[in-house]
Amino acid sequence: MSRWTVPRGTTEMSAQERRLLDWVQRLEETGDNAGHPLMEEFRTLAAEHRKLMRQLTKIATISDRMHTDSRQMAQVLHAAAQTDPLTQLPNRRHMIERLESELGRIARHGGGFTLVMVDIDHFKAINDAFGHAVGDTALVETARILRQNLRGHDLCARWGGEEFLILLTQTDQEQAKTVAEKLRRLVDDHRMHVEGRDIHITLSLGIAAYRPDWTADACIQAADDALYAAKRAGRNRWAA
Ligand code: GH3
Ligand code: MG
Ligand code: MG
Repeated sequence: MSRWTVPRGTTEMSAQERRLLDWVQRLEETGDNAGHPLMEEFRTLAAEHRKLMRQLTKIATISDRMHTDSRQMAQVLHAAAQTDPLTQLPNRRHMIERLESELGRIARHGGGFTLVMVDIDHFKAINDAFGHAVGDTALVETARILRQNLRGHDLCARWGGEEFLILLTQTDQEQAKTVAEKLRRLVDDHRMHVEGRDIHITLSLGIAAYRPDWTADACIQAADDALYAAKRAGRNRWAA
């Protein structure tokens, strides 16, 4: 829908112009008015009017195109600002926004969610052994496994370097343990072949179920604490 209201057919001669021209034509044909200077002036003005309307139509078209382009550009920029460029997962900012809206939803309608903080075990050793580029590919592959094995309404974000944060909506602690164990096992069983090398990755996961009156920060801290309990207990496991 055009933001400009240029009437249809403005570049064509309007019915009113056509009537006036016919009238001028008839006046000229009577002989008395032929060559009257006002007639010539009228023709010039009518031609000028049509030219201006053609120009206005072009400007309106360009303006509409620019409006559409800038709206699409804003959408692309918004998506980019919410996405991690390496893994294409939602980024930390996106997760925080989603967490805030989830807390708002719970305040209005009740319910709950569980957070799972995920950290790749001994990832520094993988970088050291195979190089940073191979490490990057392993991160992308791990992100893919996590994303593909969650429900559509859950959210898996890249939280930091080799850390991911998962928001499991409408999920209690016991259900989250099942999800965490599934993800842990999928990654543990998966063999990555990157640049001709076999890479084995394991995950540690920390689970924290939402408690009434918790802030987003309190939930995240609880998941982080549980993650470090899993690390201390020997890695390649979850703790709650
Ligand atoms: P832990 O089991 O205790 O988690 O050990 P870790 O080695 O995984 O943990 P540490 O914090 O010591 O090292 C994390 C490593 O992750 C170091 C850092 O270079 C690497 N890293 C972070 N971001 C990226 C990235 O985008 N690409 C690659 N290739 N490596 C990354
Ligand atoms: Mg880490
Ligand atoms: Mg780590």
